[in-house]
Amino acid sequence: MTEIADAALDMDRCWDAVVSRDSGSDGAFVYAVRSTGIYCRPSCPSRRPRREQVAFFALPDAAELAGFRACKRCTPREVCPVAPGAAVVAAACAEIAVRQEQPPTLVELGAAVGMSPHHLQRTFKRLVGVSPREYADALRLEALKGQLRDGERVSEAIYAAGYGSPSRIYERADAQLGMPPAVYRGGGKGMQIGFTIVDSALGRLLVAATSRGVCAVSLGDDDEHLEYELRAEYRLAEIVRDDEIGDAVDAILAYLDGQRPSLNLPIDVQATAFQRQVWQALQAIPYGETRTYMQIAEGLGNRKAVRAVGRACATNPVSLVVPCHRAVGSDGKLHGFRWGLERKQALIDMEKRRYS
Ligand SMILES: [Zn+2]
Repeated sequence: MTEIADAALDMDRCWDAVVSRDSGSDGAFVYAVRSTGIYCRPSCPSRRPRREQVAFFALPDAAELAGFRACKRCTPREVCPVAPGAAVVAAACAEIAVRQEQPPTLVELGAAVGMSPHHLQRTFKRLVGVSPREYADALRLEALKGQLRDGERVSEAIYAAGYGSPSRIYERADAQLGMPPAVYRGGGKGMQIGFTIVDSALGRLLVAATSRGVCAVSLGDDDEHLEYELRAEYRLAEIVRDDEIGDAVDAILAYLDGQRPSLNLPIDVQATAFQRQVWQALQAIPYGETRTYMQIAEGLGNRKAVRAVGRACATNPVSLVVPCHRAVGSDGKLHGFRWGLERKQALIDMEKRRYS
C-alpha cells in the first residue's frame, strides 16, 4: 500500500523538504516513520529519522490507512492539503469514515464532495493508494480488529464495526484478516508451543511446534525479533524455549543445505479453508520450479482470486514447509517475501541448482 501511495510523490524532493524542515511543503505530503509508527508534516521540529525508516504519503488519511498515527507535536491533520484534488479526497475520506455503517456509493460520494464519480475514483486512488470502496473496507476491518483485540464478543464486534451481518465479514475477513474472526481473537489460546532458534544457510532460523506439528518457521537476523514475532502471532499461547524439538529443525536445515527436496512435515496452524487450499497448491509445486499467483488461482478454479492467493502466501506462518517462495508475480519478478526478497531469491537459486 505504501508503494502505491508513494507513486503520486517525488520521494527525493519530499526527503529534501523533510531534511530542511520546509514549512512551505506542509500540506503537500506527510512523512511517516516506521520505527515509531508516527507521521508528521515536513516542518515538524522532531528529530530527523533515518531515510530508510521513512515512508511518504500524499494525505494524512493514506498514512493512517497504513497504520500510522498523527504526531501530537506538529498535528499534521490540521494543515490544509495543497495537491490538486487533495482537499476533495480528504473530504471524501471523512465522509466515508462517518458513514462506516453504510458506506456511500461512488455516485453518492461524488455528489457529497462535488466531484464526478469517475474523476473522484481516479484522484482518490492516486492520493490514497486505494479506491474509495477499498478504503471503506479497510476502515471497517481496522475497527473490527480493534474490537476483537479489546476482547469484545465476535458477533458484537462485527455489528459495532458496521458490518450488517456476520456472514458478510466472514466472507471478507477470510481473505483480509488472514483467518476467521473467532480464530483471530483466539491468538493461539490453548496452544502449547515449543521453539528453538538456530543458525542456517539463510541466517537465523526459528522453528516452533506443538505436539501436533510445526506452527511457525521464520528467518531473520535477530533472535529477539524472531521470538517477538512468534509471541505476537500466538500471543495467548503457552510458549517455551525448547531446543529439543529436533526432527523438524534437522529436516529444515537439510533442506536449506540443498540435501532434501521436500519437507513433508505435519503442520499445526489455524487457517481458513481458502488458505489451506492455497498452501496445498504451493506444496504441489515441484522442487526447483515456480508458479505465478495467477497460475495458482487458476489451479484453484478461480482466476479472480489472484490477490487473495497473494495474501494467503504472505500470511503463511510456516515458510519453507509451505514453500510460498515458489510463488512469483506474473512478470516473473519476485513479490514480497516476509523474510526478505534476497532470501526468496536465494531459495529459488538453491533449488534450481539442485534441480538441474
Ligand atoms: Zn511531528
